[in-house]
Amino acid sequence: MIDIDQNGRFKVEAFIHAGRYTAACKNFCSHLAGSVQFLADFVPLRGVYHRTEIYIRPNRRWAACATNDGLTMVVLGWPIAEAEAYRADPEGNFFKTLELVPEFAERVRAATRAERFTGAGLPGYLRKPYGPGWVLVGDAGYNKDPITAQGIMDAFRDADSVAGALHDVWSGRRTFDAAMSAHHAARDAQVLPIYEFTSQLAMLEPPPPEMQQLLGQIHGNQAAMDAFVSINAATMSPAEFFDPGFLGPLLAA
Ligand SMILES: Cc1cc2nc3c(=O)[nH]c(=O)nc-3n(C[C@H](O)[C@H](O)[C@H](O)COP(=O)(O)OP(=O)(O)OC[C@H]3O[C@@H](n4cnc5c(N)ncnc54)[C@H](O)[C@@H]3O)c2cc1C
Repeated sequence: MIDIDQNGRFKVEAFIHAGRYTAACKNFCSHLAGSVQFLADFVPLRGVYHRTEIYIRPNRRWAACATNDGLTMVVLGWPIAEAEAYRADPEGNFFKTLELVPEFAERVRAATRAERFTGAGLPGYLRKPYGPGWVLVGDAGYNKDPITAQGIMDAFRDADSVAGALHDVWSGRRTFDAAMSAHHAARDAQVLPIYEFTSQLAMLEPPPPEMQQLLGQIHGNQAAMDAFVSINAATMSPAEFFDPGFLGPLLAA
């Protein structure tokens, strides 16, 4: 059940996701986003919202969780290939999606929309993050679909790394090019595995056969499931997780 806050407020956001490998857009990982907010005039009050719900259906996914000002947010995803169809009727398609779980849709319908839908398309990229007199940090230098929700951490990590590099430059330890190219290489080494993983996930399509087989092996193995979830929590890199030296013993246990 979605618990609405003590003021009965409820927020909904909708996203359209797309992977980096769509036929139409081979070099980009992009998504569209939309949002609506609901004030739950008619939903029973259930105290402060305290948990997250996630629903995955073919080519669709959505989640509900607490957000600002005591509101509950519902995040909805569609594939980019269906973006035009979605845009033709955002509210209708929003509820059509939620109807895949009628009980959930019913709870949202019982609320009152407080804001308009909004949307945006965001291409994925890894840019060279420096040049004569300039550096890029955060989304300006590197962006991936927010489906794995790691952009804020990425931006802090980037800022920290660039600050260290510039400190080296200004204290005379390294040249600008040496310090920034080291930052560039370290950034790419760190983010490429999750960039690839995210791009695949953002397509909202069934995983490739080998991944499906692996997920089948992971299912029921608590240590392996915990490790897999750690990828999304950014406490483990996909490169580390998918290393046979790590996963092999875990699955054999
Ligand atoms: C729909 C969506 C959902 C997301 N969900 C999550 C999530 O759950 N978790 C997560 O970690 N990340 C999430 N992200 C990603 C995260 O928001 C970004 O990765 C992060 O905000 C990047 O921080 P940043 O400082 O690099 O850029 P931004 O947060 O975009 O900040 C850049 C700022 O610069 C300003 N600016 C731009 N141009 C100029 C200019 N010429 N002059 C002055 N100011 C300018 C902009 O207005 C903006 O305020 C999401 C992104 C989107 C789009």
